[in-house]
Amino acid sequence: MKYVLVTGGVVSGLGKGVTASSIGVVLKACGLRVTSIKIDPYLNTDAGTMSPFEHGEVFVLDDGGEVDLDLGNYERFLDLRLTRDNNITTGKIYQSVLEKERRGDYLGKTVQVVPHVTDAIKNWIESVSAIPVDGKEGPADVCVIELGGTVGDIESMPFIEALRQLFFTVGQNNFCLIHVSLIPVLGVVGEQKTKPTQHSVRELRALGLTPHFLACRSAQPLLESTRQKLSQFCHVPVGNILNIHDVPNIWHIPLLLRNQNAHDAVLRHLDLLSVASPPNLH
Ligand code: ADP
Repeated sequence: MKYVLVTGGVVSGLGKGVTASSIGVVLKACGLRVTSIKIDPYLNTDAGTMSPFEHGEVFVLDDGGEVDLDLGNYERFLDLRLTRDNNITTGKIYQSVLEKERRGDYLGKTVQVVPHVTDAIKNWIESVSAIPVDGKEGPADVCVIELGGTVGDIESMPFIEALRQLFFTVGQNNFCLIHVSLIPVLGVVGEQKTKPTQHSVRELRALGLTPHFLACRSAQPLLESTRQKLSQFCHVPVGNILNIHDVPNIWHIPLLLRNQNAHDAVLRHLDLLSVASPPNLH
């Protein structure tokens, strides 16, 4: 299994869900089978009890799972039928760890965030990513994982640590990290500012994760000078700096990524170029 992890920095609501779905669309258009997992670091077991005014639509899956609206994006963009287990929350992870603890499965050990909670997260990701959700048999080629929230939030720390360990276990060619960040424009000069992205990449690195791609949200297309600066200061090859500027319709985003050859760079990183075909997207 190959994993594409999408994280977000600077502010929430940047478009991580749309970016993750769109990357999935582009990979699918190259002939790969894709599945997805959404991680929500909140303590609610699922989105069923959360106010839609605060959190947006509660999306109901075929198996009755009440989940985050991003899973709706995944189903619509990728033509998948996801299950409640494709949405991981802190509540679900702790519930499973506490049930194991009550059963005595930990054999008298002190139950801790590391390694018990992080192991539960890794096991959940590895087992759910292997379940086919596209109507075909056998596991998909790529699992796109979206980590909700913003890097640095206290509540996402166990997930970041589990994903760091997963990256270490599966290796560089099986794990691709795309960090979504904001490039604001300040003042009358209209300069695209890279500093917030530099800080969020530093935060990610401090937690042991290195972004292979940056997906930059901006109002206008990124200038070449901004791209160069981001590459140099964030230590990401310039060809791996993707730009997702504001568009009138989010269905344009897969095309935006295809036009920047994102598929080529992601497939190269994941060593999948030989099994993929040119993207069939219109
Ligand atoms: P996150 O997962 O980071 O919270 P979402 O993917 O849910 O963010 O996106 C937040 C909102 O921004 C959604 O309403 C989405 O349609 C919108 N959005 C995302 N990317 C773009 C874009 N490039 N242009 C315009 N709107 C966008």
